Amino acid sequence: MTSSPTWPRRFATRLLHTGHEQDPTTGAAAVPIYQVSMFDQPGLETPGEFDYARSGNPTRKALEGVLAALDEGHAAFAFGSGMAAVSSVLMLFSAGDHVVVTDDCYGGTYRVLTRVFSRFGLQATFVDTSDPDAVRAALRPNTRALLVESVSNPFLKRTDIPAMARVAQAHGALLIVDNTFLSPALSRPLTEGADIVIHSATKYLGGHSDVVAGAVVVKTPALAQELGFLQNAVGAVLGPQDCFLLQRGIKTLQVRLERQVRTAGALAKWLTERPEVRRVFYPGTGAVVSFRLAQDTLAAPFVESLQLPLLGVSLGAVESIVTVPARHSHASVPVAERERRGITDGLIRFSVGLEDLEDLQEDFVRAFTQADRAAA
Ligand SMILES: *Cc1c(COP(=O)(O)O)cnc(C)c1O
Repeated sequence: MTSSPTWPRRFATRLLHTGHEQDPTTGAAAVPIYQVSMFDQPGLETPGEFDYARSGNPTRKALEGVLAALDEGHAAFAFGSGMAAVSSVLMLFSAGDHVVVTDDCYGGTYRVLTRVFSRFGLQATFVDTSDPDAVRAALRPNTRALLVESVSNPFLKRTDIPAMARVAQAHGALLIVDNTFLSPALSRPLTEGADIVIHSATKYLGGHSDVVAGAVVVKTPALAQELGFLQNAVGAVLGPQDCFLLQRGIKTLQVRLERQVRTAGALAKWLTERPEVRRVFYPGTGAVVSFRLAQDTLAAPFVESLQLPLLGVSLGAVESIVTVPARHSHASVPVAERERRGITDGLIRFSVGLEDLEDLQEDFVRAFTQADRAAA
């Protein structure tokens, strides 16, 4: 854990200059990978800053300092995955507590709430959090938190963070925002009234499809104490190699997102004008576009005909990634629940990478034709 008191600089500068970007002992231009499990202590009565690497590691400390600065939080915590981050935050609560959750949330969040935390007595209600009235109606006396995704998945519905903050505050509940789909380059929920921000850092923060990681950023010293305790007690920490990779990826977050959002907006607009496409979901920001083809049965041959994007689970990388949520990200959601939410086999999610727009369009056109031919 590292707290940084002030952030005098603008965001793109902050990606590079936070006070945590250099090795404090040598001035090395990047913080080294401290590949150790323990630290030799000066003496019995004189403990060093670090003792055991689950509790703290200099590489992780540097990364956490950067993460706190980017989200303008009091402190940040790096975890072994986004789900480790989500799960560690949920351990703030106890049996008999209740949380209100975005209904088309990440499949893994749905799974851990309904199949793991439910066994420990944590209650969850899933509602459309883009509708503040629906959220208010779901509140119970024991509601301790709203857990919302700033952009939901796979339908990319925006949740109004200031509105959610008002609902949470009026009820004395925490507002927890999973901001994976926007990243701190596009939105910083702690400045809009949220108490805790969660990222799957596997996605935009890392950005290069080479590390699985999670982050939690908190607003207050009290929450920092609680999360720091849980991070050490539960132990789902991020290893030093992955901390290093993440800190490296973060340096280009702003330029990656600027370009990806521009391409995504253009691609979404282009898709709405294509006769092969029935419906496009794009919230006007971010770099993920979901769509349905005119016929559901064309989705499988279409995605398999695409040549540029990676096919599978994940998003937020320099390479475009095409996902069929029913088969990939939401495969863990029961079929009936998937159907209820409209997550059918015909729904396609496209995470826009750094390829040229024209090349993506040409790839789409070729795949439309091939899918048609395969279906004929
Ligand atoms: C991927 C993702 C997660 C889980 O993160 P992992 O790093 O895969 O464990 C959580 N929330 C959202 C919105 C995600 O996209």
